[in-house]
Amino acid sequence: PLYQCPNFLFIIMGVVIIAIIIFSYYVGIHYIAPELLIILLALASIILLISGSMIVNSFERLAWVNKTKSEFVSIVAHQLRSPLSSLRWSLELLGDEKTGHLSEKQKEIFEIVNKSNKRMIDLVNDLLNVCRIEEGRLKINPQEISLEEIVESVVKEFLPLAKEKKVNIVLEKEKNLPLVYVDPERIRMVIQNLIDNAIKYSKKEGGKVKVSLLKENNQIKFTVKDNGIGIPAILQKRVFEKFFRAKNYPPQREISGTGLGLFIAKGIIKMSGGEINFQSKEGKGSTFWFTLPIKSKK
Ligand code: ADP
Repeated sequence: PLYQCPNFLFIIMGVVIIAIIIFSYYVGIHYIAPELLIILLALASIILLISGSMIVNSFERLAWVNKTKSEFVSIVAHQLRSPLSSLRWSLELLGDEKTGHLSEKQKEIFEIVNKSNKRMIDLVNDLLNVCRIEEGRLKINPQEISLEEIVESVVKEFLPLAKEKKVNIVLEKEKNLPLVYVDPERIRMVIQNLIDNAIKYSKKEGGKVKVSLLKENNQIKFTVKDNGIGIPAILQKRVFEKFFRAKNYPPQREISGTGLGLFIAKGIIKMSGGEINFQSKEGKGSTFWFTLPIKSKK
């Protein structure tokens, strides 16, 4: 309700304070009865105290609701982790055919279950990372690394998907790029997410993705440009919000995703001292980029 909304209560409090100032000035000038004025001011202070405590209470309530919500997500995600990984081990045993030969039909079903299991593990890991980022306890283990190597290996990893989606993917990089001091696993996640998005949200035919890596001032800039479906202008400011999905793809073309990738990517890049942003035009394509500072361990 409105009377519990902190912003509304702040406005009310401001109005009350102004009214009290004007009122006491008026009373003080016209009826010079100090006792009365003191009583009135005491009353006004009580009103202010009460409204102040209401504001604090509603802030506390908001904070509590928020905390409970993230605790809930975090607990659920933790609880889901162990059954999902035991499922993964069992599936691996089945898949290796150590427990017996699988027929073609069984293999087909096995693939579906395996894929769903992987997706659920990814989702749970994403949720845990979101909780860690929000609570400021995402662990970063920086090392001196070559961004070039990571980007190359991620691009290679995505070649089969690109081929399947008929997307032409190219990598352009400057020579002799300096090393950066970041967490290789986390940065890899960011690069995977950006390239995955560029391929996922590509056009149905003639999709092109260009990945580039260059040095700019004291930074290394990673860019991935696509000519895909783009993001509608009015939705662009929400792109890095968690669970945000623009869903502007054509009907009958559901693209799977959780809307967590870019939220996590932003958290990781910010923690690594860099910046992340994008430009996009609906129907024309998008360019996502991030920078990382060039600095060594020392
Ligand atoms: P997900 O891809 O799992 O939905 P992300 O956080 O990675 O989540 O992206 C959020 C949303 O931003 C996507 O759902 C999509 O609508 C939009 N988006 C991200 N990258 C691109 C891109 N390269 N082209 C078009 N839309 C994109």
